[in-house]
Amino acid sequence: MDNDLELTVAQVIKKYGLLNHKKRSKSLGQHFLRDSSLLKKIAGYMLPLEDNDIVEIGPGPCGLTREIVKIAGNNNVFCIEKDIALKAAHDNFTANANCNVHFIYQDALRLRPQELTSKNVVIISNLPYNVGTRLLINWLLDLNGISKMILMFQKEVADRICAALGSKDYGRLSVISQLLCKTEKLFEVSKAAFYPPPKVTSTVVKLIPQNIVVNNIKNLEILTNNCFRHRRKTIYSILKRYYKTDMDKVLAEVGIDKCSRPENITPKKFLELSEILEHAEF
Ligand code: SAH
Repeated sequence: MDNDLELTVAQVIKKYGLLNHKKRSKSLGQHFLRDSSLLKKIAGYMLPLEDNDIVEIGPGPCGLTREIVKIAGNNNVFCIEKDIALKAAHDNFTANANCNVHFIYQDALRLRPQELTSKNVVIISNLPYNVGTRLLINWLLDLNGISKMILMFQKEVADRICAALGSKDYGRLSVISQLLCKTEKLFEVSKAAFYPPPKVTSTVVKLIPQNIVVNNIKNLEILTNNCFRHRRKTIYSILKRYYKTDMDKVLAEVGIDKCSRPENITPKKFLELSEILEHAEF
C-alpha cells in the first residue's frame, strides 16, 4: 500500500476525493487544516501528557492526527469520526503510522470518550462547528476521567467560553465552563488556514477540569439559562419571576447584591445560588 504519510494533507484530500460530495462535507462541518506547523502547534498544547490516552474528535484526513501520534508515544489515540467515507484514508494511516491509533466510526455526540479506555483522557479536536457547543456541554456535564481539552471553536463560541465577568459575552456557557474548568484562549486561526475556508474565524481553547463538586448541575443549567435570558434585568427581579421563596433572604445569604445583573455574578456565586434554590418552590 502506498504510504500516505509521504503525501501532504492536501494530496491525501485529493487522492481520496474527500471533498467531492459537497453537501455531505458541509453538513459534517468538514473544513480541513493543511498547514503542518499550525497542526503541530495545536497538538503541542496537549503537553504535558502524563499517563493519559488521547481522544480526537473528527480526524478527517488525519492532518492533526499525524501530529498527535508524534506526541502520544505509547499512549493510545482514539479517533472518533462520523464519516465512514474517510475509512480508506484512515486504514492507510493505521498501516503506516506505527503507533497505537484506533479509528471508531460513530457520532461523537453518542459516545462517551471516557468509555474507550480506563485511563484518563485528553480530548483534542478541530470541532465540527455545528455540534461543537453541544459536545462541549456533554463533556462539561460529565468531566470524570477527562484531564484536559484542546478544542477549536468558532471565535464567537470561544469568546463566550472564556468571557470575563461583566463583559457582553459573559453568559451561561462562561459560567458553566469557568466553574468546572480553568479556561484559556490560546490563539486565533484565520479562515484561510482551512480548506475549504469556513465563514468564520476560529479560536483554539484549552480547558482543564477542576476538582469541584456540583451536586445538581442540571439545576445550575436551568438557573443560568433563566438568568441570562433576561440579562438586562436585576437578579432580584429575574428570580422573583421563577421562585416563590423570600429572595431578599436568599440573596443576602449568598452575598449577592439584589441590584446585580447576571453578567456581574461569578460562577461560584451562581453555584451557591443554585444550591440554595434547589429546594425552593417554583
Ligand atoms: N481534524 C481534521 C478535520 C476537522 S473537520 C482537521 O483538522 O483537518 C471536522 C471533522 O469532524 C470531519 O472529519 C467530520 O467528518 C467530523 N465530524 C462531523 N460531525 C461529527 C460527529 N458528530 N462525530 C464525529 N465526527 C464528526
